[in-house]
Amino acid sequence: MPSLLIASHNAHKAAEIATILGENFDVQSLARHHGAPEVEEDGDTYTANAVKKAAETAAWLSSQALAQALPDFVLADDSGLAVDALGGAPGVHSARYAGGDGNSTDEANNAKLLRALAGVPGDNRGAEFQCVLALAALGQAGEVRTFEGTCRGRIAQANSGQGGFGYDPLFIPDGHDLSFAELGREVKNAISHRARALAKLAEYLGRG
Ligand code: IMP
Repeated sequence: MPSLLIASHNAHKAAEIATILGENFDVQSLARHHGAPEVEEDGDTYTANAVKKAAETAAWLSSQALAQALPDFVLADDSGLAVDALGGAPGVHSARYAGGDGNSTDEANNAKLLRALAGVPGDNRGAEFQCVLALAALGQAGEVRTFEGTCRGRIAQANSGQGGFGYDPLFIPDGHDLSFAELGREVKNAISHRARALAKLAEYLGRG
């Protein structure tokens, strides 16, 4: 079974990826690798950030004298929410939308999004979750492939539900009347931007 290290310090993202890939891959988390670099996400695109995270983590890992075997691949995820009525914002800045030093809390980001859409009627609240995965093959220096997934929906008038993370309490995927946070893990992991990008990655690795 191919082994794959998820280069994410976001425990929610890492858990979703592990759940979706878990049966066909030996999925490892950064918890096993103390000292892994916190890669600065200063790119203008999801692709730039995802490739940077995967490549820098793979380079760091290769430079370590590890007791255990190196994973076959390092996988990074950069993702966000693009809202039509906001010209695609918060987009690549989704994690730090509400401002301040570094990432903002989910509560602050969701509150800012609701304020930004105050008075915008349901028909104009279309939005899309977007995900780019970058896969770095260890041992093949420099080779990084990317896989993309999107999920269309709309932004609710208020938060609802306890599941998921980030903007999930506000995002109602097309074909549903409940938010990702209400629909729960199974539904989200079948249709999300991340699940769609992971399906392409699994197919590429012959495990689709
Ligand atoms: P980054 O990819 O770590 O820069 O951050 C992505 C940000 O986008 C997260 O902090 C969330 O705010 C948002 N995001 C990405 N994927 C999801 C998702 O599946 N549900 C809810 N929010 C998400």
